[in-house]
Amino acid sequence: MPIDQLQSLVLSRFGLDGGAMFGIVPKPIWERSNPADLRNRIRMSGRALLLDIGDRRVLVETGMGDKWGAKEADIFAVDTSFGSAPARLRALGIDPDTITDVIVTHLHFDHAGGLTVLDGNGAARPAFPKATHWVQGRNLAYAEAPGLREVGSYRRENFAWMREPGGVRVELLDGPQRLFDAIDLIPTNGHTRGMQLLRFNHAGDTFLHAADIVPTYGHTPVAYVMGYDMEPMTSIEEKRTVLTEVAQGGFLSTGHDPDHGFARITDRGHDKFESYDKVEGGVA
Ligand SMILES: [Zn+2]
Repeated sequence: MPIDQLQSLVLSRFGLDGGAMFGIVPKPIWERSNPADLRNRIRMSGRALLLDIGDRRVLVETGMGDKWGAKEADIFAVDTSFGSAPARLRALGIDPDTITDVIVTHLHFDHAGGLTVLDGNGAARPAFPKATHWVQGRNLAYAEAPGLREVGSYRRENFAWMREPGGVRVELLDGPQRLFDAIDLIPTNGHTRGMQLLRFNHAGDTFLHAADIVPTYGHTPVAYVMGYDMEPMTSIEEKRTVLTEVAQGGFLSTGHDPDHGFARITDRGHDKFESYDKVEGGVA
């Protein structure tokens, strides 16, 4: 079943170290597509997708959220004016109470930070209490006991509520899944364990949301893999598969491109892919 309405939304703006974002790629190469500020940070967005499917309204990803102290906001160049995920949706003219389902590709803070908001006592509570939340069980288990390299990326305040009995509804998925007869969820493991990509149809095209497999459109050459990735050679295999598929037709959707939500992809051979026909928020 095709998606009725599709939008790419910028829920957050922030910056991450360009060297970490491009792994082994030398700065003179990556700074052409992704220029760095004086502290070597490149511009990043926390992108979400809004998918209307019949009577369901699905939010994919939740951005950075607003639980940031002054020191962290400074380090990550967080634009704190964007606020919590529900506040940002309201600012974009979207009533957060209409969201029936929330899918997160993985629980790193720049995707799951908006899952919670602080209550009056400073406790993190679900930001979308009426919605059903969909995440791979493997990713949640790993987020609860991360390896040393990912301790800073998996913050309990974003997902501890998921194990509370009788609380907000969470569906822990185990592997590939089709949701609402419209969205295929595709697990990957190179960036982190149990991430899930999305494939769906809209307006006659296939869309593939690559999350952190292709974080910005500067990352389309296959070897441009992030230093953050847990298994870079696995990322390379997964990325080649994703880009080869999109180059046959349809659109790619990235997790963090500062300027564009969707793009078409062309295959230049020798593991060089390029984006074109980039659009910011909506396609048809
Ligand atoms: Zn990530």
